[in-house]
Amino acid sequence: MRKLILSALAVTVLLASCKNASEGDLNIQETAVLAPQMKAPCATMGVLEANVLHDPSIRERMAKIEKHTKDFIENKDKYQRKLVNGKIVIPIVFHVIYRSASENLSLSTLQAQVDALNADFNMQNPGRNTIPAEFAGVEANIGISFEIQQVIRVQNSKKRSWRPDDKMKYTSQGGSDVVNPQEYLNIWVVNQMPYRGGQILGYAQFPGGSWATDGVVLGANFVGGSDRTATHEVGHWLNLRHIWGDGGCGVDDFVADTPESDAPNRGCPTYPDVSCGSADMTMNFMDYTSDSCLNMFTLGQKARMDAVFAPGGFRASMAD
Ligand SMILES: [Zn+2]
Repeated sequence: MRKLILSALAVTVLLASCKNASEGDLNIQETAVLAPQMKAPCATMGVLEANVLHDPSIRERMAKIEKHTKDFIENKDKYQRKLVNGKIVIPIVFHVIYRSASENLSLSTLQAQVDALNADFNMQNPGRNTIPAEFAGVEANIGISFEIQQVIRVQNSKKRSWRPDDKMKYTSQGGSDVVNPQEYLNIWVVNQMPYRGGQILGYAQFPGGSWATDGVVLGANFVGGSDRTATHEVGHWLNLRHIWGDGGCGVDDFVADTPESDAPNRGCPTYPDVSCGSADMTMNFMDYTSDSCLNMFTLGQKARMDAVFAPGGFRASMAD
């Protein structure tokens, strides 16, 4: 049954390595290769799979979004609007769900995070001067800015930790309900998400999921000016895949100018770090490299993000 469900969609190629997941047991595939105590960077694909099992219509919506994205990239002239060369400002609603005072992140910490997002999405991040010449030509200024719209603080004295199961997105479950997701980027900050002896840094929901759970979740320890988790997760929220396509060589991230890669990279690899016959773009925000070594999006990734805001795109209402 599950194979039938998964084989129906192109997206499922990306899920091929998650063969053991079931609804009650989130399979965060990225963590499978981690030793205990290492960080489990991103639970986005595991959460997608769990959500698809619960609501198969997500697959159809994501397939339509892929079709629209492809059409946008091939026929940009059709989609004349300010978003292609103009600036989109995305208001953020932070939901800070905390147990102890130290987890109740200050406004200055949240602002530092937003400043880092603005730097990364506008080619102002300091590390970009280290991008190798091979990749510098495809570095892209995404031209999207972010600002804090609202900070909602919810103290939950019972909850020592959370799972990547979206419960933090519901007031009735001890979290905080989404606010106007067609106009705002909702970011939930929770105290921690332990997983197999490590920590999940964050996860995002791709375009096409339920509006009730639309947005990004971050662990409180991974929010701030020097952390790149938010940049990575907002990339997913804008329909970017991991640069290794969540599979081996030959599995695509739907972006032509990110070279094929066999697996996530970690730490801070020295260029060239070769897999699948080419140097990996280890400094791409959609890899798992250390924060200080993540420094760029590409033109191909920008096109996918632009498509999300184009007429007919899942987040077009944000660009009006
Ligand atoms: Zn990710």
